Amino acid sequence: MKELNCDLHIIGGALSGLLTAYCAAVLGYRIIISEKKNIISNSIKSITDIRTTAIAEGSKIFLESQGIWKFIKHYAEPIKSIRVFDMTAKCDLDFINPTPKSNLGYIVKNSTLISVLIKELQKKKNVKFITGSNINSILSQNLKIVSLSNNKKINSKLIIAADGKNSTVRKILGTNFFKKNYSEKALVVNFYHEMPHNNIAYEFFLKTGPLAILPMQKEKNNNQSTLIWSNKPEIVDMITKSNLNDDYVLEILKEKLSVYLGNIKKINSIQAFPLSAHINEKFYDNKTVYLGDAAHSIHPIAGQGWNLGLRDIKSITRLLKKAKENGSAIGTKDFCKTYNDLCYYDAYRLFETTDKLDWIFKKDKFYFRFLKNVGFKVINKNKFLKEKIVEFAMGI
Ligand SMILES: Cc1cc2nc3c(=O)[nH]c(=O)nc-3n(C[C@H](O)[C@H](O)[C@H](O)COP(=O)(O)OP(=O)(O)OC[C@H]3O[C@@H](n4cnc5c(N)ncnc54)[C@H](O)[C@@H]3O)c2cc1C
Repeated sequence: MKELNCDLHIIGGALSGLLTAYCAAVLGYRIIISEKKNIISNSIKSITDIRTTAIAEGSKIFLESQGIWKFIKHYAEPIKSIRVFDMTAKCDLDFINPTPKSNLGYIVKNSTLISVLIKELQKKKNVKFITGSNINSILSQNLKIVSLSNNKKINSKLIIAADGKNSTVRKILGTNFFKKNYSEKALVVNFYHEMPHNNIAYEFFLKTGPLAILPMQKEKNNNQSTLIWSNKPEIVDMITKSNLNDDYVLEILKEKLSVYLGNIKKINSIQAFPLSAHINEKFYDNKTVYLGDAAHSIHPIAGQGWNLGLRDIKSITRLLKKAKENGSAIGTKDFCKTYNDLCYYDAYRLFETTDKLDWIFKKDKFYFRFLKNVGFKVINKNKFLKEKIVEFAMGI
């Protein structure tokens, strides 16, 4: 069995794992990233996640501070205003960018984010990738933690579990978690359209679930946007199973979106994602910390899932930096618990908020419609409240 040594063993090489590796590599840690997919040998076209991520302004400021934003910004489309419609209560709200220097957020394709991070990590001498590997055992030995996978033994001081919402690390270590299944799937459609999107993001609250349209970068001179529509699984399945060129999908998009974006010219990709949310009982275990979707996942209603993961990464980077400066140990119970205390409350609060938002906006009873109508009017008239909501969306 081949034996490898490092400071940090990061398990999971998608958005959270790769960004954590980048931030820790800059600090000089020796890192091994284990990823079960073959992310290195395959080209960008083989990254099958067609989703985009709305990166909040606050997250962008962190990415800037780590020196990685300069590689991402060429692929990021700014959101300058957000228009919210509640179709059950028949009311709407507009949120505008507060200062000309910042934006409400930035839309970037997940596949682009992943390929930029891999490219930059491959330049770092202190980072090693092990792909196509599946961890099957984790053991604690004195000051190190040992992971075993596909004939490899990896010794590290700390494991960073970034292996997504169905985390294998969590299963192996037996960390408890609370899970909520929404009886919904999110339909994600990327498409070209006739009219420019003018950097406006739209969020419609429908009886069946939220529908968002987010502005993407132009492609081959075509105006492009993405649609994220939470709906009953049988409806989403019916749409995803129909042929891409099927007039049926185009008709649905036209009916919902042509007022805002003009004629729908071409559908580029369609994918469905089952929706669930979870939160681990704690974000650490034996010489291990959980971050990103391995720690928590939330309803995509507010586009905040990875922005929350980014805040975990910010916290772990801060602690790793401090440990480097002080020459103190990483992976101790104290280190892992401090990380937990920095992140847990924030994640729990957002987990609850997004869950309740989804619940309230689906309610169609008279008194809920009345309450939502009053709520929208109060926010519309109150500059302070509007600013607070904008700050929440921007993550500042
Ligand atoms: C429809 C939808 C839209 C969204 N939109 C937004 C948005 O606009 N803004 C936002 O902030 N968030 C958004 N999110 C949330 C966001 O997509 C996730 O929070 C983010 O992708 C999580 O990244 P991650 O790296 O933590 O986990 P994952 O993307 O799940 O990555 C986990 C990685 O670990 C690997 N792995 C798993 N098991 C193992 C193992 N045993 N060994 C090695 N590797 C393993 C997997 O192959 C994978 O590469 C959205 C989510 C959905 C469903």
